[in-house]
Amino acid sequence: MTERSLAVVAAVLGDAAQRDVPLARYSGVGIGGPAELLVIAHDRDTLIRAILLAQEAGIAWRVFGGLTNMLLPDGGLRGMIILNHTRGVDYDTATCRVIAESGAVIAKLAQEATRRGWGGLTWAVGLPGTVGGAVVNNAGAFGGEIAKTLIAAEILTPDGHIQTVEPDWFAFQYRYSKLKAADTQVIVVSATFELTLRDPAALAAKANEYTGRRQRTQPPGRTLGSTFKNPPGDYAGRLIEAAGLKGTRHGGCMISEQHANFFINEGNGTAADFQALIDLVQVEVQRQFGIRLEPEIEIIEPAAVSDQLSAR
Ligand SMILES: Cc1cc2nc3c(=O)[nH]c(=O)nc-3n(C[C@H](O)[C@H](O)[C@H](O)COP(=O)(O)OP(=O)(O)OC[C@H]3O[C@@H](n4cnc5c(N)ncnc54)[C@H](O)[C@@H]3O)c2cc1C
Repeated sequence: MTERSLAVVAAVLGDAAQRDVPLARYSGVGIGGPAELLVIAHDRDTLIRAILLAQEAGIAWRVFGGLTNMLLPDGGLRGMIILNHTRGVDYDTATCRVIAESGAVIAKLAQEATRRGWGGLTWAVGLPGTVGGAVVNNAGAFGGEIAKTLIAAEILTPDGHIQTVEPDWFAFQYRYSKLKAADTQVIVVSATFELTLRDPAALAAKANEYTGRRQRTQPPGRTLGSTFKNPPGDYAGRLIEAAGLKGTRHGGCMISEQHANFFINEGNGTAADFQALIDLVQVEVQRQFGIRLEPEIEIIEPAAVSDQLSAR
């Protein structure tokens, strides 16, 4: 990957590409150093073209959605970082199916489906991020999850082909699909959800209930949501609180007083601060309760950045 190939690809992509842009500006938690080459893809053609150009030029690349689940390194990311802003959504009234581009904002889609009285995604009315990120993570809340209503997805394979796959292909588990591992070169281009006609008033009441529960339990401010997965039969937040770690600060980051599984960037927090809190929690919860908490968020380690991206 040379400076020259980055410059050539940036020139071909024109206004969609920018050099050395701080990713903190786009990340949910406001943390992350510069992307060597940032591409904001507002349409499907730009998304696919950027990936194919990067591949041809031997430039490491990676696609993100809303960056609401990623802890990005302070030193930034090499290669091409593509932010997927392909927002198109079709609502097929005849079949009650929603066909969404992968950069569509999942909360807006869920709100519109709920307004129409289409049940199956109401749990997602307050879920940050994009459809693509939600599929990759098998996002879920309030008993719902992506795997329950996804019926098909278009993927872009490493050889540049668009392929339609069924949900089984993703090998979904709790907050996991096989695309969650960072060494894959497959991206989700669109997703189709099959919903069910329900009473719109009942769905609206559910949506209000879920929004209220988020407002009551989740702290405002810059976070990545739940930092750790819940271990079997318990809650990460309960364990962190019981370990006496609520309110602990490291640099500009703190463990929320309101919900111990949420870590907040108070303004000038860094990935190193956030990581220090993760390490502290893992050590203390293991020491006190014998339970190893596993991150729900995805972390790009500083030392692994160039290797990780170069492997793509
Ligand atoms: C306040 C708050 C509350 C939250 N509540 C919940 C919750 O209730 N339930 C829950 O499950 N999560 C929750 N989250 C976490 C997060 O919102 C979800 O995981 C979300 O689905 C991530 O989407 P994203 O677009 O931001 O993904 P990103 O953070 O941008 O990316 C996540 C991963 O997906 C990959 N990816 C993204 N788009 C694509 C694509 N099109 N093709 C291939 N790979 C792709 C990225 O490379 C990365 O590996 C919460 C987060 C916050 C900040």
